[in-house]
Amino acid sequence: MAYKYNSGTLQILPIGGVGEFGMNATLYRYNDTALIVDAGVMFPDTDQPGVNLIVPDYTVLNEIGVDRIIAGVVITHGHEDHIGGIPFLCRDLNRDMEIYGTRLTCGFIRKRLEEHRFDHKVDLHEVVAGDTLSFGEIKVHLLRVTHSIVDCVALVIESPAGTAFHTGDFKVDQTPVDGKNFDFAGFAEWGKKGIDVLLSDSTNIAKKGYTLSERTVGDSLKQIIEPSRQKVIVACFSSHIHRIQQIVRIAAELNRRVVLLGRSLENSMSVARQLGYLKVPAGVMANKEEIREIPEHRLIIITTGSQGEPMSALSRIVRGEAKQVEMYPGDTIIISAKTIPGNEKSVMRIINSLYRMEAEIHYEEISEVHVSGHASREELKLVFSLLTPRHFVPIHGDRMQLVHHAELAKEMGLTRRQIHVVESGDIVELAGDKVSKIDSIEINRRFIEGDRFEELEDIALRDRRRLSEDGLIVVTLMVDEKSAELVGEVEVITRGFLLLSDDEAEMVQIRDRVRRRFSELKRKDRLNWEAVRPKIRSALRSYFRKRMNSFPVILPIILTVPRTGGAKR
Ligand SMILES: [Zn+2]
Ligand SMILES: [Zn+2]
Repeated sequence: MAYKYNSGTLQILPIGGVGEFGMNATLYRYNDTALIVDAGVMFPDTDQPGVNLIVPDYTVLNEIGVDRIIAGVVITHGHEDHIGGIPFLCRDLNRDMEIYGTRLTCGFIRKRLEEHRFDHKVDLHEVVAGDTLSFGEIKVHLLRVTHSIVDCVALVIESPAGTAFHTGDFKVDQTPVDGKNFDFAGFAEWGKKGIDVLLSDSTNIAKKGYTLSERTVGDSLKQIIEPSRQKVIVACFSSHIHRIQQIVRIAAELNRRVVLLGRSLENSMSVARQLGYLKVPAGVMANKEEIREIPEHRLIIITTGSQGEPMSALSRIVRGEAKQVEMYPGDTIIISAKTIPGNEKSVMRIINSLYRMEAEIHYEEISEVHVSGHASREELKLVFSLLTPRHFVPIHGDRMQLVHHAELAKEMGLTRRQIHVVESGDIVELAGDKVSKIDSIEINRRFIEGDRFEELEDIALRDRRRLSEDGLIVVTLMVDEKSAELVGEVEVITRGFLLLSDDEAEMVQIRDRVRRRFSELKRKDRLNWEAVRPKIRSALRSYFRKRMNSFPVILPIILTVPRTGGAKR
């Protein structure tokens, strides 16, 4: 496993997002020019408590020596799994950076960058679909695609060694809400010129047929909202400008006013409005302070929290903790988003609470209140037909999705030797009419905690997981500083350990175990808490493992106390 580069080839090195879901980033290199396409984040699973984001460790680029030759970072669109890692990339590479994206994409990136400080210059360059960017001997052509955020592009990466086509995220929406069409002609033209290798979005490979147009969601939202005589709450992703646009339009048509709840929603709305991506008729938007003055049947609230996030506006409304909003039976709630795998439980919790409140509830499984932003199988085939690539590398998906996308490529007439299922860290090389994996490098992940963007060490992460699953045991031992004997009772406190909390027999066992282990220690070790702690911990660890197959975090506290009785204090 080592980095290598053969001169005169186009190297494609997925840094993230291939064989895993999220944190999309790919390195393209031709001789002494390299580009990074996208730099996203991954959202953690529920088994990584306290972690907000996961990003690739970009210092690997310094280690393999390509940091110096990165001519630019080209971003396909403004979703977090494509832009959220940019600040970490800038910090890791620790040099001036040139970033290219369309206007809305740059708007979102600017917001992200404001939250961080850098020692070096970060330049944002606004580009438009149809542009060609030149970096040394690499040219990048931008083609418009449709997706669940506006202003998205696919990239044609042209080098003397051959041409790669990087789709980014896309669907083929023939009636996009903003009227800006998928660039079929551009795709076909490049297909004619010749694409050596296609890298295409695998997210929806399991979906048959075509993904419905975003417009269909507008129609069904209107059908739901129109008959309602009470307030309507719609939860959706804050970056989904088309969805928000449709809700605003419906509100205007039905003479309702729109209030936004949730900081990320307010942020993205203000970026999109400033840059002219949202058409808002006068008098439709209202502040949250005005909610109480608006009659209930004239109100639409757009909120964050479609994933059941406990701190989101929707969850607070449901718990009755939102200052401005109260729920009444008969209110309409629409969860206009897909449940991201891993969030099913928290979404179901919200839906159950809403049913309990006798709300009118609509969500993806029972109403047509969401369509995907990603291409289904027939659209993926369409892209193959337009581009007729010589080789294929499925991207944006976990291993299963990549393999299924590879099977689709076979259906489209590519042979096994033309299909390359690789994962993040694999080094792919295009040379002449050959594509091959030449080696791979190891790319670590970083776990980012909270709004402060602090990094969590792996150990802290492991402890948190154990804390949340198996609880915490604190044992306190008092040791006489002269005799090195135990003084008084061993104190045991447990948290998150239901089995034990009032099980006196179990407590006695634990105390015994601690006392016995302590008495086995040499006298001189007993006063050295650095020697005592690991011994006590491992004794208890094996006890819990054997007795209840549980792995709580064990925290021994050793206090040395002055000789009891006669000693002077
Ligand atoms: Zn996307
Ligand atoms: Zn994506």
